[in-house]
Amino acid sequence: MSQPPVPVRCRERPQAGGLVVPFISYEHAGHAVFGAINPRRRSLALLRALCQICGQQLDERLCLTVRPMDFQAGAAPEPGLHPECLAYSARACPMLSGAVAEYRTTAASVNHPAGKPCSDPACPCPRMLPDPHHEIRSGRPADAWDSWMIHRRHYRVKQNPQQPGQLLGIDLDVPVLRIRPLRRSPRHHLDEVHTRRMRALDL
Ligand SMILES: [Zn+2]
Repeated sequence: MSQPPVPVRCRERPQAGGLVVPFISYEHAGHAVFGAINPRRRSLALLRALCQICGQQLDERLCLTVRPMDFQAGAAPEPGLHPECLAYSARACPMLSGAVAEYRTTAASVNHPAGKPCSDPACPCPRMLPDPHHEIRSGRPADAWDSWMIHRRHYRVKQNPQQPGQLLGIDLDVPVLRIRPLRRSPRHHLDEVHTRRMRALDL
């Protein structure tokens, strides 16, 4: 499969295997771990309204990646994207393009392919563990994803009321300009529930 063209905004980003390393990707010993999120970069992007791929400020219209569980929770846990960065990700990311059917089994095995703990004292990995969402998703069938486009004036970060400072994600209880399916899940029943809820909201 040929690599999709890299958007101009992303040309400053490092690449691995011909693919842009997203701004929020977890990096281990200088290597990007696609699919694992660096929680510090995630918080920074959420709070400063930065794109999760290029790391630049979001524009007037921005996109969110939304799964049925995010819709139910009322927040998109991942930072927003520029429309062109989303279009790139939708082709380049195996999770969004449908090239893989399951999440990776464990984050640890991704970080340390030989299954050994990290022995580099300078490595930041003990302080930057992949996000709990990734742990929860590990080994499960990949979810359905939609992209939502919202206006920047409706961009709000939701915090966990029980744990102040814990960022749940971007508030989904806002007017939506457009919804597009990114990938469908093999779990059709959940998709149906999701579709019915969307219809109930007249989206
Ligand atoms: Zn971007």
